[in-house]
Amino acid sequence: MIEVTGTHVWYYFICRRELWLISHQIAADQDDEYLDLGRFINEITYKKSKRELLIGNIKVDRIRREDGTLVIGEVKKSSRFMESSRYQLLYYLDVLRKMGIEARGELLFPEEKHREIIEWTPEAKQKLDRSIADIRRIALQPVPPKPEKIKYCRKCAYREYCWAEG
Ligand code: SF4
Repeated sequence: MIEVTGTHVWYYFICRRELWLISHQIAADQDDEYLDLGRFINEITYKKSKRELLIGNIKVDRIRREDGTLVIGEVKKSSRFMESSRYQLLYYLDVLRKMGIEARGELLFPEEKHREIIEWTPEAKQKLDRSIADIRRIALQPVPPKPEKIKYCRKCAYREYCWAEG
């Protein structure tokens, strides 16, 4: 059984095939500019500032207190991957909760002048747990899910692997 991380949660909501490839440590195209899997996430996330904080193995961009509640924030360049962003932050909230830290999350999109609050709720936790169970199920499959053409394929380090002809 794989140890699910925020990165798995992120890719689960983008491409299940990529999730499988990452889980199986399949090397992507060595010359690919997107080889560094974290680079893509960073590309749509603002450069980490000095305000970045580490809590266990969780790295968050912002942290503050509001009305006595801890608020952790992630700053994104765009809301293109909203579902991934939401569930990744929810995953962090859940990990913190297991450590006895109750927190609220916020996704910040300065260029879009938008902020989205992410709350840990029993319903959200149920959905997160279902996704995590599905991540584990996919990772255990002997072969990867078939590729499906999506917008992200253009920037994916596995695109040659998935779409090379012949
Ligand atoms: S190229 Fe497309 S289908 Fe293949 S892993 Fe990347 S995103 Fe998924």
